[in-house]
Amino acid sequence: MGEHAETHEFQAETRELLRLMIHSLYKNREIFLRELISNASDALDKLRFAALTKPQWMEGDERLVIRLERDASARTLTVIDTGIGMDRDEVVANLGTIARSGTRSFLEHVHSTKSGETAPEGALPELIGQFGVGFYSAFMVADEVVVETRKAGEVAGVRWRSKGDGTFTIEAAGGLARGTRITLHLKPLPEDEDDPQDFTQEWTLRSVVKRHSDFIAYPIELEVERKEGEREVVTLNSMKPLWTRPPAEVKAEEHTEFYRHLSHAMDEPLESIHFRAEGTFEYTALMYLPTKRAPTLFEPEKPRSRLALYVKRVLIMSECEELLPPWLRFVRGLVDSADLPLNVSRETLQHARQLKPIRNRLTKRVVESLAKLLENDRAKYVDFFAEFGATLKEGIYADDDLRQDVAKICLFATTKDKTPASLHEIIERLPVKQRELYYVSGETRAALERLPVLEAATKKGFEVLLLVDAVDEFALSRLESFEGKPLRPLDKGTIELEDDAEKKEREEKESELKELPDAVKSALAAQPTPVSEVRFTNRLDASPAAVVYGEHDLSPHLVRRMREAHQDVPDATVVLELNPRHALIQALEQRRGADATGFAEACELLFGQALLARGEPLADPSRFNELLVKLMLK
Ligand code: ADP
Repeated sequence: MGEHAETHEFQAETRELLRLMIHSLYKNREIFLRELISNASDALDKLRFAALTKPQWMEGDERLVIRLERDASARTLTVIDTGIGMDRDEVVANLGTIARSGTRSFLEHVHSTKSGETAPEGALPELIGQFGVGFYSAFMVADEVVVETRKAGEVAGVRWRSKGDGTFTIEAAGGLARGTRITLHLKPLPEDEDDPQDFTQEWTLRSVVKRHSDFIAYPIELEVERKEGEREVVTLNSMKPLWTRPPAEVKAEEHTEFYRHLSHAMDEPLESIHFRAEGTFEYTALMYLPTKRAPTLFEPEKPRSRLALYVKRVLIMSECEELLPPWLRFVRGLVDSADLPLNVSRETLQHARQLKPIRNRLTKRVVESLAKLLENDRAKYVDFFAEFGATLKEGIYADDDLRQDVAKICLFATTKDKTPASLHEIIERLPVKQRELYYVSGETRAALERLPVLEAATKKGFEVLLLVDAVDEFALSRLESFEGKPLRPLDKGTIELEDDAEKKEREEKESELKELPDAVKSALAAQPTPVSEVRFTNRLDASPAAVVYGEHDLSPHLVRRMREAHQDVPDATVVLELNPRHALIQALEQRRGADATGFAEACELLFGQALLARGEPLADPSRFNELLVKLMLK
C-alpha cells in the first residue's frame, strides 16, 4: 500500500455480497473471467463511441484490445483493457461505495433461494451477471484484487485495492496506460478437487475464453510459450460478431453464449430470431426470447427496451427504445445497420424516420415467432407465458395495429380450467348459448371463484375468464371483442344472460317487489360508500345481493393499485343488485312497510354483506358489527 492510500469502507450490501463471493465453494467459478472480459469489452465500446466526437481520447493509440497476463509462480492473473478507464470518482462509485442497483435484489434472491445456509450448487454464478454485480465475482477466485486504471484523456491514474474484507484503499498511480488493469491474486488451488482449474495455465484460459467470450468483438490476447524460451502473443477468441454471419451457420450453443453475454443471464434463449433486411434501408437483427424473467422486468425505472443499436458494428446505444415497444422489453438482442450515420445520438434517433419501419418489422417478427411456438410447442409456450405473459398482454392494450395478433397468443385461466388457454380455444368450447365472453378481474383466483356475480353464469354452464394480472382488465376492455365474440366484464353494467322464459319468470317475481329498489336506495342514502343505483339482477343465484360497477369503470382493486402508484383515478360507480328470487329479498319487502328502522338497518347489512362478498372493505366496519350483533340478539 502506498503512503497516500486512503481507506474506504464498502457500502454494507456490497460487504455482504463480497462475503458471499469469498466463501463461495461454487462450481463454475470460471465465469468471473467472462464478467471481467465483458466489463473490458464494454469499456472498449465506450471509448470507441466517445472517440467519434473526441478523437483525442484515443491518445494516438487506436489499438482496442483485451490482454490476459499471468504469473504462475506469483499466482496472479491480470485482465487488461485499453478502454475508457475510470477516474477517481468513478472508481469509488463503481467499485465500492455506491450501492450497485443490482446488489440488494441479488442478495434478496440469494437469501430467498438459499433458506439459511448453502445455495444450490451453481446458483450463485447464475445470479451474478443478472444482477450487475459482475466485478465482485473476482473474489470467488482471488484473495486480493488490484485495479489500476486511467481514464482516456486524463493524466492521473488511480489504484484500487481490496482483500474483500470490508474495506478498500485508493491511491493515485502514475505511469499508467489508458484503460484498466485488474490483477487478481489467486487463491491457492483447492486441495479437495481432483482437477482444479488453474487460471494461470494457458489451456485453462483458452478453454474458458472460448466457452464464454469467443464472440467478443475485440481481440483477447495471451502470451504463450511456443518452444523453449520462445514466446508469442495469440488471440484466444475468433472475434467474429455472431450477427454478421449467415443466420443458418450460427450454432445453437453460439447463440446461447452470445445471449448470455448480452443479457448477463445464465438461462438458455427460448428462441433466436436472426435475419438480414435488405432494400433501401439495410440492417441485421438478432433477437432472443429469454426463458427466465430478469428480476428487474417490472421495475418502472428499468429500460423500456433491451435491444442494442449498432452502426457498422460500432455499439451506439446498448438500450435503444426506438427499436421495440415496451411490451416486448423482455426481448434481448441488437440491430446493426450500415445505413445510419455513426454520430447518431439519442436525440436525433427520436426523429429518425428510418427506425419506425424497423420497429414495426421487429415487433411483427417477435409476435409471429411466438405464435409459431404456441402452435408447435405448447408446453414450452406455456412456460414462456408464465414468465412473460403479463408483459406481453400490455401489447393488447398498447398496440393499435397488432392488438388482435397479440390477443391471439395470450393465455387466460377460466372458471372451467386453471390451465390457461388461448381466447380462440376458449371460444371454441363455449356452450352454444353463451353469446359473449365474460370476465371478472381481481387479486387472486381463489377470491374470484367465490364472487356471487358468477352464480347465474356458472349455473348455466357458461365459462368466465378469471383475470388476476393488473394489465388484464385494461387489455380486455381495449380489445372489446375477439373472433366476433364481444368481451364483457361480468360485474359491470348490465348483462344479458337469460333466455326468454327465464327472463319472464324473473320479471314476474320483480313485479311483486316493484317499489323495493327505490326504497333500498333511499335507505342507503347516508352510506359512506355512495350507491348510485339499486336494481334487480339476473347475475345471482344463491346470493341475495351483489355489488357491481359502472360499465366503463375500473375495478376497485385496480383503483387502489393505481392510487398507490400516485395516479389520479375516480372511484368506480357502485350499483347494488338484488336477487328477486331470494327469500331474504322477499322478506325485506315485507319489512318495508312494517318497520322503517328495521328495514333501513337490514338494507345496510345487506349492502355490507354484498361488499364483503365482493372482497371489498367496509367503510364503517364497527357500524356493521353493531348492526350484526343487534340482529343476532333478535
Ligand atoms: P456491471 O458491469 O454489471 O455494471 P460490475 O460490478 O461488473 O457491474 O461493474 C461496475 C461498473 O464498474 C461498471 O458498470 C463500469 O462502469 C465499471 N467498470 C468495471 N470494469 C471496468 C473496466 N474494465 N473499465 C471501465 N469501467 C469498468
